[in-house]
Amino acid sequence: MTGTILSILLAVVVAYGLFRVGISVMRTLSTPLPEPPPPGELRRVKISYRCSICGSEVRMTVATEEEPEPPRHCMAEMDVVARADD
Ligand SMILES: [Zn+2]
Repeated sequence: MTGTILSILLAVVVAYGLFRVGISVMRTLSTPLPEPPPPGELRRVKISYRCSICGSEVRMTVATEEEPEPPRHCMAEMDVVARADD
């Protein structure tokens, strides 16, 4: 008789444990993926830069701000050669 009660208690404990594990797995699976940054955070720009050391030119088309920091080339910041707002 005692054995029966013990096995019922054990079954309840095991079932509860499985229930908790299942809930945490469901939570992990249902966690939404991080959303991409809203479109307003990226700005369309059209800025050309030239490397004052080697003469290479690049054009930046998308940036996180309207006055982005100039990219570096040859270990130096590039110079703005053209800026078009549209
Ligand atoms: Zn360069």
